[in-house]
Amino acid sequence: MGMVKQNKADKKAILSHTTKKCPECLTQLTLDAEECFSCKKKVGEVNKHGVAKRPINWSSNIVCILSWILFVIYLWWAFF
Ligand SMILES: [Zn+2]
Repeated sequence: MGMVKQNKADKKAILSHTTKKCPECLTQLTLDAEECFSCKKKVGEVNKHGVAKRPINWSSNIVCILSWILFVIYLWWAFF
């Protein structure tokens, strides 16, 4: 129950913003900006604090997951 109320409050807070801040350099950007004009970083949607989200960087996530899998395979190979 509390979660739903919190979500509503978050949505309201998000809708109240007319600009968003770059998460890297805190430059004010328009809500539809996809890239910070100051530091050239990609920015996502605004969050409830008025700061743009960092877009998910899939390529670095995949590299991270792959290195974990390799690590597990290595451990398995080394000990069994
Ligand atoms: Zn920036």
